[in-house]
Amino acid sequence: MTSTNRTYLDYNATAPLRPEVRAAMLAAIDSDIGNASSVHAHGRAARAVIDQAREQVGQLVGSKATQVVFTSGATEAANWALSAAWSTIYGANIEHPAVMLPIKRSAAKHVVLPVDANGVIDVVAAAKLFSENIQTGGNKPADKQLLVVQLANNETGVVQPVGQLAALARELGITVLTDAVQAVGKQFVDFTGLGVDMMMVSAHKLGGPSGVGALVIRDGVDLLALVTGGGQERNRRGGTENVSGIAGFGAAAEAAHRDLAKFADLEMLRDRVEAFVSRATPEAVVIAKDARRLANTSCLAVPGRRGETSVIKFDLAGVSLSAGSACSSGKTARSETLDAMGLNDELATSALRVSLGWATTQDDIATFEQAWSSIMGGVREVRNVA
Ligand code: PLP
Repeated sequence: MTSTNRTYLDYNATAPLRPEVRAAMLAAIDSDIGNASSVHAHGRAARAVIDQAREQVGQLVGSKATQVVFTSGATEAANWALSAAWSTIYGANIEHPAVMLPIKRSAAKHVVLPVDANGVIDVVAAAKLFSENIQTGGNKPADKQLLVVQLANNETGVVQPVGQLAALARELGITVLTDAVQAVGKQFVDFTGLGVDMMMVSAHKLGGPSGVGALVIRDGVDLLALVTGGGQERNRRGGTENVSGIAGFGAAAEAAHRDLAKFADLEMLRDRVEAFVSRATPEAVVIAKDARRLANTSCLAVPGRRGETSVIKFDLAGVSLSAGSACSSGKTARSETLDAMGLNDELATSALRVSLGWATTQDDIATFEQAWSSIMGGVREVRNVA
């Protein structure tokens, strides 16, 4: 996407609003709808908008519509799922802060799942940790245990073996939450087929509005509402619904579903980025290049070049991309994901993320290449690596 002479390559932070989403949101705002809880015609019109969006999201993630509970985003969905009285939570240190921070705040024991150099969870080690931490020694834990695992990483695009981990966990009676925020709309996702109990989804990563998401919950999972109040969302999430936001989420889900095959084609553009970078800057490292990754994400490290400095230089050249995680506004903290992967300091602090999406064109990549040549082709920065 090139707008106002800028090139946007930061889709994992947020994807630009799709035109059909804008249309659906404007239609919801402009139409004569009431409160979705009201029984009159205005209320029923609002309810119809929400019901349609629930179907659209369910179709994208492979769940029943009734399993989709709308929230204010994936962060709320994560906080909700992690708020239950878990005694043990299994999770790797590569999870997004929306998951990591509620784990840290929780009274539960955190069992850290080890990852390999690509950031992929070691399934054998995880199985061993599950059985070591099951209190009863039988096949049902006496306590409430949760496994949380992301489907795809926001920084590297690396895809986790969620199906395998979920099968092992559920065999032992461990509830499974997956963070599908980065995977949904970028690859085929099947909530039912994955065998998970709960799944977080976010609209703005699909070209929908920010501030809307969902927790998809398998029938029979016992989870008390976190946001209580009115009986909205069948008593699972109180508060008058964000009808236009939900309408936008639905439209984004439908468009992302329709475009799944096109999304896979982005791999060609991503490979072009990586081939160019390797030619232009032989010392550059493509992080987790050989792992199973999303088609749209490249994490590039150039030893001796600080990521934040590079981001500013790209910004001045009219190209928007991210350093490290930077999912939340311009933060420059070290990446816990890259740390967990055992990347050395020099590589970790130089990581740049290029992430493509529904409106990315060959011209965007050409602009990136020009910017890269002028930024990385110069004299190397001198810096102490502590
Ligand atoms: N999980 C992952 C992997 C993410 O990339 C993000 C992005 O911000 C979130 C969770 C949080 O989603 P939201 O912005 O909807 O709160």
